[in-house]
Amino acid sequence: MKKFNFNAGPSILPREVIEETAKGVLDFNGIGLSILEISHRSKDFQPVLDEAVALFKELLNIPEGYSVLFLGGGASMQFCMIPYNFLDKKAAYLNTGTWANKALKEAKNFGEVVEVASSKDKTFSYIPKDFVIPTDADYFHITTNNTIYGTEIRKDIDSPVPLIADMSSDIFSRPVDVSKYTCIYGGAQKNLAPSGVTFVIVKDDALGKVSRTIPTMLDYRTHIEGGSMFNTPPVLPIYSAMLTLRWIKANGGVTEMQRRALERAELLYGEIDRNRMFKGTAAVEDRSLMNIDFVMADEYKELEADFMAYAVSKGMVGIKGHRSVGGFRASCYNALPLEAVQALVDCMKEFEKNN
Ligand SMILES: *Cc1c(COP(=O)(O)O)cnc(C)c1O
Repeated sequence: MKKFNFNAGPSILPREVIEETAKGVLDFNGIGLSILEISHRSKDFQPVLDEAVALFKELLNIPEGYSVLFLGGGASMQFCMIPYNFLDKKAAYLNTGTWANKALKEAKNFGEVVEVASSKDKTFSYIPKDFVIPTDADYFHITTNNTIYGTEIRKDIDSPVPLIADMSSDIFSRPVDVSKYTCIYGGAQKNLAPSGVTFVIVKDDALGKVSRTIPTMLDYRTHIEGGSMFNTPPVLPIYSAMLTLRWIKANGGVTEMQRRALERAELLYGEIDRNRMFKGTAAVEDRSLMNIDFVMADEYKELEADFMAYAVSKGMVGIKGHRSVGGFRASCYNALPLEAVQALVDCMKEFEKNN
């Protein structure tokens, strides 16, 4: 049976990327060796890293003065690298969910942290609007897409202090005005590559301003100087990321990714709103295009397990909601075809008819 992959992360990748990655594992570029067994400094791998950096810059229209890094440690490692490199005295954080909260908590190890606003009062189902960013903060940290709660900051906001964003789960889903940010980072396993590589876009002249000593591996300058090769980088995930970036470019770039995301989201949210048996959990104006959360309407709560079983029987994969929200979550990343969303919508319609 055909499977429709709504996994939250690691998650769907373009089929071509998986096939090309598999080829590279067997025989990389026809050199008679696997990409798994060549030096990261070899003449065969260096062009992969260079192309990945170049495509990042091209697709996101990154201005001069920024570096693109590929590191290990996941987005979670960035929760500590950000304050290590940028927090001198005080930082401001917007608390929009589990990941935002983890980032905020970690920063507390490095200085004063101001939580400018939180949506915890309503299970992080909305993005706080009327908050004040302290002008004496070293930076303001946001999580643009809240993977678990299905909310998203879909515009590049204005900040009076350097803006830093975790874009793990919505990078390359829309054009971004990178010039508004001092740093953008994320784990690649949501929309870009298999797990194991973390991307960081950082403004070079914002570094070197904190008074503390930074451990070598946690200092962005180390990795800028080393061209992401200070130590052995995650070679295979970088290769897959580069292939995904090629795929994005060949498919019309981030503007087209955004159009497709809107098309998928309109179809699924439309059905969630129309169908009497379901309801969305996120505030309508803050709905994520990437992670679409919904639950059974109150009068049908007891049918949740039935719908899940029905959807699974029709090939849906990974639609169970995160335990802190319950219900269902359909992650609709770049590689997810509209056909998959249509299949889920058909399930919802048929389930309504049968009950
Ligand atoms: C998944 C996720 C993380 C955690 O990423 P790791 O690479 O597993 O550390 C952080 N932030 C957001 C928004 C995420 O979706």
